[in-house]
Amino acid sequence: MSFHFYHGKRYRTFNTYLKETFGCRVHKVSLDAGFTCPNRDGTCGTGGCIYCSNKGFSYNTRKGVPPLTEQLKQGIDYMHRRFHASKFIAYFQAYSSTYAPLNHLKKTYDTIRSFPEIVGLFISTRPDCLSEAVLDLIETYREDYLIWIELGLQSASDDTLRRINRGHTVADFIDAATRAARHELPVCAHVILGLPWETKREILKTAELLARLRAPGVKIHALHILKNTRLASEYAARPFALLEMQQYAALVCDFLERVPPEAVVQRLAVDVPKNELVEPQWCLRKQETMVAIEAELERRNSFQGRLSRDTS
Ligand code: SF4
Repeated sequence: MSFHFYHGKRYRTFNTYLKETFGCRVHKVSLDAGFTCPNRDGTCGTGGCIYCSNKGFSYNTRKGVPPLTEQLKQGIDYMHRRFHASKFIAYFQAYSSTYAPLNHLKKTYDTIRSFPEIVGLFISTRPDCLSEAVLDLIETYREDYLIWIELGLQSASDDTLRRINRGHTVADFIDAATRAARHELPVCAHVILGLPWETKREILKTAELLARLRAPGVKIHALHILKNTRLASEYAARPFALLEMQQYAALVCDFLERVPPEAVVQRLAVDVPKNELVEPQWCLRKQETMVAIEAELERRNSFQGRLSRDTS
C-alpha cells in the first residue's frame, strides 16, 4: 500500500479534497443560526457535554449571534479580502444545527441560496437529531451543494459518553451514520483524543469503529478545557493529566493509521480563542501541532489507513 493518492501528504487533507472537488481552494464560513441543543434544554439532558462552550467553539456566538445573512456576508467578505477566496462553504456549526422544526430548518438553510458564491452546505449536529425527515430535507440540497453532516461521536466507549454527558450512545451514532449513508449523505465524525481515563486501546477502538463504518470523514482534536464549562470546574477542583503536544501527535498518528484510507481528514487541531482556554496552552499553537503530527508520520514512515484493512 502507498500514499501517492494523498498528493505528497501522508493523510487525505481537507484542502486537497476540496481542490479535487472544485479545482480551487474553498473556505468555510462558520455560522451560528440560533439553534439550541437537546442536551441543554432538558429534552435528553441538561447542562450539555462537560466540555461544551459554544462561545469557545464559534466566533459568531462570541459576537452575540448577528443575523444569518450578516454572518454570511461578513464571513464571505473577510475570506475574500484575506485569501482572495471566491467559493465558500456555509458551515452551520453552533449547537445542534438540525434541532428545530422542519420548516424552520428549511428556511434557515435556504438563506444560503441568496449567496451564489456558496458551493457547500455543512451541518453539524448530534446523532439523536437526524430523523429520516431531516435526512430527506438535507438530501434536497445535494443537487446544488456539496453536503457534509458533521456528527459528534467523541468516543466509541459508552462509558466515556456517559462521563462526558453526551446524552447518546455509540449505537445512536452508528444508527445515524448508517442511515445518513443510505441517503448518500457523507458523515464526518468528531472525535476527542486525550480524555484522561481513556487508554490508548480504548482510543484506537474509536478509530476501528470508524474503519468498520467506512466513515467518509473525521475531525480530531485534543481534549482542551474551556472556561465556564463543567470540565473547567472539575479540573479546578481536581486537576488531571492532559496530553502534551508530542503525545497528542503520536496518538493522532496511531488513529490515522487505522481510519479508512479514503476518509477526508477535516481537522487535526482546533483554533482555540486564547481568552477562552484554560489548558493545555499548547493548543494555541495550531501550526506547530500540525508540524509535529506530520513529523511523527514521517518518522514512522507511515500514513493514513496503513492499518485500517486489518480492522475491517
Ligand atoms: S451536543 Fe454540542 S451543543 Fe450540545 S451540549 Fe454537546 S457539545 Fe454542546
